[in-house]
Amino acid sequence: MNDERSPSTRRAFLGTGAFALAAAAAGAGVHGAESPAGGAAQSAAADPLPTAPSSNGPAAEGPSFVEPARRVPLIEDCDVIVCGAGPAGVSAAIAAARCGAKTRLIEVRGCLGGVWTAGLLSWILDWKNKSGFMAELRQRLLDGKAATVYDNDLGYAPEKMKLILEQLCTEAGVVVQLHTRVSAAYCEQGRLTTIVADSKSGREAFRARVFVDATGDGDLAAQAGCTFAVGRQGSRQTQPMSMIAMLVGLDPKAVARFVRGLAEPLGEMRPKMRLYEEMQRAGVAPSYAQPTLFYIRDGLFCLMANHEYGVSAFSAADITAATLRSRAEVHRLVDALRSLGDPWSNVQIVATNEHIGVREGRRIKGLYEVNIDDLRHSKEHEDAVCRVTFPIDVHATDPNKEKGIERAEFRVKFYDVPYRALVAKDVQGLLTAGRCISGDFIAHSSYRVTGNSVPMGETAGVAAALAAQSNRLPAELPWAEIHARREELRALRPRALKADF
Ligand SMILES: Cc1cc2nc3c(=O)[nH]c(=O)nc-3n(C[C@H](O)[C@H](O)[C@H](O)COP(=O)(O)OP(=O)(O)OC[C@H]3O[C@@H](n4cnc5c(N)ncnc54)[C@H](O)[C@@H]3O)c2cc1C
Repeated sequence: MNDERSPSTRRAFLGTGAFALAAAAAGAGVHGAESPAGGAAQSAAADPLPTAPSSNGPAAEGPSFVEPARRVPLIEDCDVIVCGAGPAGVSAAIAAARCGAKTRLIEVRGCLGGVWTAGLLSWILDWKNKSGFMAELRQRLLDGKAATVYDNDLGYAPEKMKLILEQLCTEAGVVVQLHTRVSAAYCEQGRLTTIVADSKSGREAFRARVFVDATGDGDLAAQAGCTFAVGRQGSRQTQPMSMIAMLVGLDPKAVARFVRGLAEPLGEMRPKMRLYEEMQRAGVAPSYAQPTLFYIRDGLFCLMANHEYGVSAFSAADITAATLRSRAEVHRLVDALRSLGDPWSNVQIVATNEHIGVREGRRIKGLYEVNIDDLRHSKEHEDAVCRVTFPIDVHATDPNKEKGIERAEFRVKFYDVPYRALVAKDVQGLLTAGRCISGDFIAHSSYRVTGNSVPMGETAGVAAALAAQSNRLPAELPWAEIHARREELRALRPRALKADF
């Protein structure tokens, strides 16, 4: 594991009375867990205050500015705080609230769903063998005429997903806080107790008994001082980011042979290749050599044809440049298709994703690291949170060699993600869920898909509630107890019990 950790993480934050000062220190631009390139950043050596790390600090070198200390309001009304409202975070918050824990869900964007909604993903993979909240959500989407089953995949309308997730959170009693970025975390004797977040309300501190990091990039865990890995072992190369677009104006029958989900039943097994050839015929070559057009339903299509290589998930400048470049590319590709005439003559982009899709951020070190050998040997665990059936899926990291999907070393049958991979190793009182759990580069490429993020979140939420309600740490909970509570919860919703095998 190419572990990283802020030098400042070894400094404990002791004593709640000092909170106002510590929060001020976090605002003072101290202790980035990493530079934009991911290396160790500024240390706290000159700062006399008790401190905790922030991953958003400035780079180690160059001019810096010391923000004046200030007092921030402290909000202390929850058992469980979930940071990040993507597939994992929403599932965690709903499960925790359904267990009776007072739960706050903090999300930086203006909607729930993460990559599902702000990211316009619109395609759920590896959902079929999942019972519990995944099965419940699938049914809710199908009942709302917002989704279609395509063999092993589930296509859904992102706008409807936003609404359904809001309804589910409201029904469960989750306190949802949008437009709020978690920007610092503080530990007391090795236990995460307090976070600081920025929003239009200003800078605010929140305390809870247990926290779940579902930020995808592992922001909270890094801020709290957890060790983490990024990218491939050694080179630290990460999978490319992708801009996604929603399209309308196409007749599903007329374009079927180019469309995943529609082509296969017609005996056309290479729709991506057909689309690539069609783009070449239109005089353009997409940066992703396996461009994919998905049919959701009711005339709505989703296009994934862009790769942004070598972009750091921790650099606003890099992400901005990638966003501008990729949006221009997606428009260029669609304009070119339209110029071909029928069946493309009326195609138009109705939306591009609000945040470019980030496949990889930090993988936070947990009590267990899911690894390539688990995939190779179909490893089963007693504390299995979910069973992954999705293959190794590494989008090319070096465009000079390959612009599609890298060839996998072997075929994955199945393997389990254990609860221990969700329990942060270096900081107590903290669970992770979704793509930031503990795993190696190859394992991450497989378990990261959203059909697995959901049960990870659901289980983290149950465990967080149990720990908070019984005054224990997540690491102290016997798996049998978490499992029993999760099944009890599922039994209250018969639709949630049944996987669609
Ligand atoms: C281009 C692309 C295509 C993919 N294709 C598929 C596919 O077809 N099917 C599939 O199932 N999976 C697919 N995946 C994988 C999948 O989308 C992710 O791995 C999955 O979203 C992980 O869910 P998550 O909840 O962990 O993270 P995310 O969906 O990334 O959610 C994290 C949430 O945390 C919020 N957040 C981040 N930092 C902070 C902070 N500091 N404070 C507050 N909030 C914060 C974010 O805004 C976001 O809402 C794809 C991913 C990408 C990028």
